[in-house]
Amino acid sequence: MELFTLKGRVAVVTGGNGGIGLGIAKGLASAGASIVVAARDADKNEAAIKELEVFAVKAMAVETDVRKLDSCQSMFDQATASYGGVDILVNNAGMNIRQQPQEYDLEAWNTVMETNLTSAMLCSKFAHPIMKQRGGGKIINIGSMMSIFGAPFASAYAASKGGMVQFTKACASAWAADNIQVNAVLPGWIDTDLTRRGRKEVSGLHERVLARTPAGRWGVPDDHAGIAIFLSGKGSDFVTGASITVDGGFSIQA
Ligand code: NDP
Repeated sequence: MELFTLKGRVAVVTGGNGGIGLGIAKGLASAGASIVVAARDADKNEAAIKELEVFAVKAMAVETDVRKLDSCQSMFDQATASYGGVDILVNNAGMNIRQQPQEYDLEAWNTVMETNLTSAMLCSKFAHPIMKQRGGGKIINIGSMMSIFGAPFASAYAASKGGMVQFTKACASAWAADNIQVNAVLPGWIDTDLTRRGRKEVSGLHERVLARTPAGRWGVPDDHAGIAIFLSGKGSDFVTGASITVDGGFSIQA
């Protein structure tokens, strides 16, 4: 269907070599988009490109550290040189350092903020002129339940993910006239490397999530494919500045 096809579009997915990012990359590829995986680990990048082969679309990986301005710039240069431009940007790369707020030192704080939030600013800033020149584009920012709630072990993470929602609104407002829609997706609790580590570090987390999630399960990366296709295609051309939960109902459960 025209509203949901991404044929001829080019999508950059930061952190697209695993977890939610790879789930999204697979979704966009299944709708026909060419994919640029932008992440640091060369082996994981290569494995992700192999997984995308089944969709018979163009896919390339660019070793990228989203904390570094030059690395982001170079990734967009390579994407544009190889595929002619970029239409879709998914700001997904992220990490957490789990400590109580009083234990946080500046280096740990900056690491989380730069990886989760400043990276979105850098990549969006580089994507904007490319998208504008092509007549429009789509940016999807990955937030979290910590965009809404707090937790003792998540001060920097929650600050970065709350910031992602407000950054989304500001960019949506700034770039609507350029036909660039900017939205956020707020995943619930998803089974990935990130939360596997979390479940080891925070006792009882696994059970608490299960008990509160109406869907009765943890999410999986592929749960984000559909929303990513919607927010990347013509079907969402009048949707901008929104933050959409993909959480099995976690955030509406009292
Ligand atoms: P994973 O740990 O599985 O994946 C994180 C991804 O980010 C990896 O691909 C990693 O690749 C990449 N990444 C991390 N740091 C950098 C960096 N400096 N430069 C480039 N890429 C980087 O985590 P998830 O899939 O769970 O998380 C993906 C996003 O979803 C994050 O933003 C996370 O905060 C968010 N999220 C996750 C939830 C969950 O329950 N899992 C819930 C809500 C939000 P590499 O190491 O190769 O660079």
